[in-house]
Amino acid sequence: MNNFSRRRFLLNALALTGSMLLLPVQKLQAQVVRLDPKDPMASRLGYTPNAATIDTKKYSSYQPGRQCSNCAQFKDNGTCSLFAGKQVSAGGWCMSWAKKK
Ligand code: SF4
Repeated sequence: MNNFSRRRFLLNALALTGSMLLLPVQKLQAQVVRLDPKDPMASRLGYTPNAATIDTKKYSSYQPGRQCSNCAQFKDNGTCSLFAGKQVSAGGWCMSWAKKK
């Protein structure tokens, strides 16, 4: 193998390795599931993906401005620690809302 073909081989191997490392990340991102408001636990907690539509008589703990994006349970990737692996709406709300510190 001369220098040129060795260099080309190493570059191809590096590109292949890099793409194999990215594959699991892409697969994980594709597996994130949105939380269904009809999910039994979500339903018990009154989760709604749109806080503006909350029945304030039924959920008296709701106050305007409280939403998933400013909740302590909300993670940077859009999931909620109460609903492991499931993505919640940034503008959503549930009875477990707690102020982010
Ligand atoms: Fe949204 Fe917080 Fe309820 Fe999770 S705990 S669904 S982030 S309000």
